[in-house]
Amino acid sequence: MSVENVLELIKEKDIQFVDFRFVDLSGRAHHITLPASEVDGDTFVNGVAFDGSSIAGFRGIEESDMVMMPDTESIFVDPFTEHPTLNIMCNIFTPDGERYDRDPRSIAQKAEEYLQKSGVGTAAFFAPESEFFIFDDVRFESSMHTSFYSVDSDEAAWNTARKEEGGNLGFKIKVKGGYVPVAPVDTQQDIRSEMVRLLQESGLRVERHHHEVATAGQGEINFRFDTLTKTADNLMKYKYIIHNVARQYGKVATFMPKPLFGDNGSGMHVHQSIFDGDTPLFYEKGAYANLSQIALHYIGGILYHAPALIALTNPSTNSFKRLVPGYEAPVNLVFSKGNRSAAIRIPVAAVTPKGCRIEFRTPDSTANPYLAFAAMLLAGLDGIKRKIDPTALGYGPFDRNIYELSDEEKKEIRSVPGSLDEALDALEADSEFLTEGGVFSKDFIDNYVAFKRQEAKAVAIRVHPHEYSLYFDC
Ligand code: GLU
Ligand code: MG
Ligand code: MG
Repeated sequence: MSVENVLELIKEKDIQFVDFRFVDLSGRAHHITLPASEVDGDTFVNGVAFDGSSIAGFRGIEESDMVMMPDTESIFVDPFTEHPTLNIMCNIFTPDGERYDRDPRSIAQKAEEYLQKSGVGTAAFFAPESEFFIFDDVRFESSMHTSFYSVDSDEAAWNTARKEEGGNLGFKIKVKGGYVPVAPVDTQQDIRSEMVRLLQESGLRVERHHHEVATAGQGEINFRFDTLTKTADNLMKYKYIIHNVARQYGKVATFMPKPLFGDNGSGMHVHQSIFDGDTPLFYEKGAYANLSQIALHYIGGILYHAPALIALTNPSTNSFKRLVPGYEAPVNLVFSKGNRSAAIRIPVAAVTPKGCRIEFRTPDSTANPYLAFAAMLLAGLDGIKRKIDPTALGYGPFDRNIYELSDEEKKEIRSVPGSLDEALDALEADSEFLTEGGVFSKDFIDNYVAFKRQEAKAVAIRVHPHEYSLYFDC
């Protein structure tokens, strides 16, 4: 959309405020709001100034001035504000007019430019399945409390921990028993439908919504794939709308990967494929899962770089509490058609040549989508460039249920890192695929690792409730 069209839209819809947004290192959105009367063509040339030193992980206090440059492709009318407000996503620039090398959205755009220069294809498509919980309220103490119980007694723990306001009407979802039951077991159909309505109004093409496997209101809403930066913008809208609709219903939504010990966590599986113009590059009829050589090499790149990649796709201490066996979250670095215990699944049911894609199941929604999608594309492109053969390297295909293998058989299979620190170690040892073509700068990687190490340390030095269970009576 041109600047003129945006200015016309502001008049037409009687927009009173324009909200300029950017995304920080950890994927959270921030905004500065201007009265519409202050917004004209110049705003789109000069941008909107802000203090970069107050944003964690950005600039130091001595070089704090930064500029948000609005991208007119990413507008939507805010469904929650009392006064009509237009939201615009921005890129971050330095006062000298350079793209800021720690701006996640600029990195996503640079990754797309790199794909085009690589000669592999013209566009990469992404579709995230970002799961979430909707809780009645936040009970930090009760979710931690479950650490006192073994997995077997979790159900009892949950039944006592859950709120029973208005009496116990039964129809409860059991631990890991929440996959698609109708009401009254599913109490969140209306709230998810309202989320979908607002997502559609904000321009997303929503394909479906459903209750997920975990108890206590786990949901998922799927929207249609798009190119890399657009999909990351869409995911930002998605999280904004889900958080705020839940708040309107007096509830709270969280994308935290593992809020409940002993039940399924929330993943963000990411479907991806590359096209050259109209031609899908991942499809070859009759091959294993109809995958082309390019797709296999892309898989090879993702699995080969996975330990480092996971520092960007699963960048929280909590991420690694989800990546444990037994909860549909992948632990094994293998690929397979249909097999949900593999890190990469190739969907084969009802798939057309254009729909042929890979699903990387490891990521979760603590990932900054701009960084995570860019990093996955770069890992895949490195696989294509270096013709990394996933089968020769022992990454499958592996069509058996890996959770049921013997210990001996499991030894052959590589696992995801066990902690955020391990993933950061891997990223420090393997980051050249990210700095290729200048997409991520070396400064970005060093700063990111230092930033995330602080989070890991902050968690590690705190006393955990389960330590009382283990050690109090020693
Ligand atoms: N919630 C599971 C996860 O943590 C995924 C369930 C599914 O297959 O959709 O990845
Ligand atoms: Mg799911
Ligand atoms: Mg999936």
